[in-house]
Amino acid sequence: MTNRAYNFNAGPAALPLEVLQQAQQEFIDYAGTGMSIMEMSHRSSVFEGVNDGAQALLRELFGIPSQYKVLFLQGGASTQFAMIPMNLLTPGKSAAFVHTGSWAEKAYKEAKLIGETAIAATSEADKFNRIPALSDIRLPDNAAYLHITSNETIEGTQFAAYPDTGDVTLIGDMSSDILSRPVDVGKFGMIYAGAQKNLGPSGVTIVIVREDLVESSPKSLPTMLRYDTHVKNNSLYNTPPSFSVYLVGLMLQWIKDKGGVAAMEQFNRDKTKLIYDAIDQSGGYYRGFADTASRSLMNITFRLGSEALEKQFVKESEQHGFVGLKGHRSVGGLRASTYNAVPFESCKALAEFMGDFAKRNG
Ligand code: PMP
Repeated sequence: MTNRAYNFNAGPAALPLEVLQQAQQEFIDYAGTGMSIMEMSHRSSVFEGVNDGAQALLRELFGIPSQYKVLFLQGGASTQFAMIPMNLLTPGKSAAFVHTGSWAEKAYKEAKLIGETAIAATSEADKFNRIPALSDIRLPDNAAYLHITSNETIEGTQFAAYPDTGDVTLIGDMSSDILSRPVDVGKFGMIYAGAQKNLGPSGVTIVIVREDLVESSPKSLPTMLRYDTHVKNNSLYNTPPSFSVYLVGLMLQWIKDKGGVAAMEQFNRDKTKLIYDAIDQSGGYYRGFADTASRSLMNITFRLGSEALEKQFVKESEQHGFVGLKGHRSVGGLRASTYNAVPFESCKALAEFMGDFAKRNG
C-alpha cells in the first residue's frame, strides 16, 4: 500500500490512508453484523448509531452550539444554492451575496431564480483574485441574509475573517474549507458543505442550521426540499447516503485523533507554507494568483510564464506521481488542493518538484 499518488485533486479528493484501511477492514462485516454498511437497513439501530455518532463528532469538533441542527443531506452543495432561498428568502426580502468568484456566482444565480437578490460586495473587477474588504460589504435594508463562500475553490481565495452582520443571518458555503480551521459557528445562521473535500467522500452534504431558521418554510415547498422535514426526521426521512455518512464518521474520528480542528489549521498552515514559499522564492518563475492577504490554505493557485510551460508542468508532474495539478478549466493555470487529508509529504514533494522544474526549464 505504498504506491499512493501525490493526490492534489480538487474534489473528490485525498482521504487519509488510515481511514481507507479501516473502511476496508470493516467493508464486508461491519461490527459483527455479517454485512457491510451498504447492505444494512437505514432504520436499523446499528446504522442509527453510525448516523448519530457522526453528528455527535461533528458537533464536538466544530463546537456547534446546542440550538443548531446538524443534517446530512443529498444533492450536493449545489442543491443548497436553491434550498436556501426556497426556505429562507421571504417575499419582500433580498438575498445578499459577497461575490467572490465562481462558486459565489453559482449560488447567487440560483437564488436569482427564486427571488430578489443583491450583491453586497464584489471583487469581479480584480478577476476575483481577492476577498473584498469586510468594510466594503453593503447590506440592502431588506436583507434576508448574507451569503458568503468562505473558500473559493477555483480561484484559491479564502476569507481570513468573517463579516459581522448584526441581526442579519450570515450563511456560509464552507464546501472547500469546513473543519480545516476553527470557526465561531454562532456567528452563522447556517453553514453548509459538500463532504467530498475535507470531510470524506461525495454523496453527502453537511448542513448546520440554527433551529429558529427552519421553523417557517413556505407551506407549498416540496417535502424533500424543506429543512424542517430533515430536522424532524434526524436526516432519515428517506434513504440516506449511508456509506458516505459512515465514511464521514471515520474521517471525523481521524481529525479528532490528530488533535482536532485547531491542530488541522496548524497542519494546513505548515504544509501549504512549503508550496507558497516555493512560489514566493522562485523569483517570479511561479506567480501566485491570489492576493497574499486572501490566499487559501486549501487551494493554491499559480501560473507560469506561458501556457505551454504550464502544460509541460502538468505533464512532467504526472510522470513524477502528482495528480490533479491542472487548474480549473474556467481559469487555467495550476492548482494544488491541500485539504485536511493531504499529507505533509505530498506538499514537500510538490515544493521540491517545483524547484527542480524551474531549474530545468528556467
Ligand atoms: N461550493 C464550493 C465552494 C465548491 O467548491 C463546490 C464544489 N466544487 C460546490 C459548492 C458544489 O458542490 P457539489 O458538487 O457538492 O454540489
